[in-house]
Amino acid sequence: KEVLFSVSHLKKYFQVGKNATLKAVDDVSFEIYKGETLGMVGESGCGKTTCGRTCIGLYSRTDGEVLFKGKDPQKLTGKEKQNYKKSVQMVFQDPYGSLDPRMTVAEIIGEGIDIHHLAKNKKERNERIYHYLELVGLNREHANRFVHEFSGGQRQRIGIARALAVEPEFLVLDEPISALDVSIQAQIVNLLIDLQKRMGLTYLFVAHDLSMVKHISDRVAVLYLGTLVELTTSEELYANPQHPYTRALLSAIPIPDPKIEQERDAKKIRLEGEVPSPINSPAGCKFQGRCKCAMPICRQEMPKLRDIGGGHFVACHICDPSNGCETGKCV
Ligand code: SF4
Repeated sequence: KEVLFSVSHLKKYFQVGKNATLKAVDDVSFEIYKGETLGMVGESGCGKTTCGRTCIGLYSRTDGEVLFKGKDPQKLTGKEKQNYKKSVQMVFQDPYGSLDPRMTVAEIIGEGIDIHHLAKNKKERNERIYHYLELVGLNREHANRFVHEFSGGQRQRIGIARALAVEPEFLVLDEPISALDVSIQAQIVNLLIDLQKRMGLTYLFVAHDLSMVKHISDRVAVLYLGTLVELTTSEELYANPQHPYTRALLSAIPIPDPKIEQERDAKKIRLEGEVPSPINSPAGCKFQGRCKCAMPICRQEMPKLRDIGGGHFVACHICDPSNGCETGKCV
């Protein structure tokens, strides 16, 4: 597999006041393979959006290494830097706030085309704009309208067209469906899957909705308080989750059938305790205050992310047989 992004020991800290440090991303390592979708999930404030933005260089990193095709984007200059900026694009969570209401759709999509000199003349520029509008399920009649004239789903399609119009290889999709009606969410996910197949794109799909992540992701990374706690293929994560936090997240996914939901309700794993502050997170495992399996070692030692077989990575002491624990028996 060709590695597109390689992220090692990435840290992104924010200074809060004079003496406090918010550890939004705290020593996170993973790779993103060309052509795949890596889902990144976790509760609000777990650092997933910051992680995505720091990976592509929208935020400078505090520490660690990020390589795109083997090169550090922060060290690129001239044409290479310009090419990198074109190759990596972002679709934002809020289609209402991320599109300038004073610009027409053509101006929004045309901006990137102009910056990267992708059209020789006005005719070619317009054809390119129409092409990308049609690609996302809109049409050329939409080009001269303003964003307030569109529904939420259509606005997100415009946001996707804007990102695609510069011919990127990689998209960070930052909760692209969470601001949309449930009925529209599946349409946008299906559109993204279709575009990926047609254009050979690679995605980092940031979300808190595990059920939707399942449909789009090849692999899923679970983040808790800025640390990566589990990473594996989508099938493996849903069939055989190992980390207590992942299990709790999965058990919280509602099932549309009320009968099944009622039966399941009794077995649900409910997270207890407060989410610790990312400013003063405890020593040892950051999940210890909410974990029914916590052992003395969990309060002393931060569990390392280890491959438990077949590329299934987990950061939890219960998955380490040397601690004498039987995986899965405690939750
Ligand atoms: Fe729970 Fe300990 Fe595993 Fe953390 S390391 S999730 S506290 S068992």
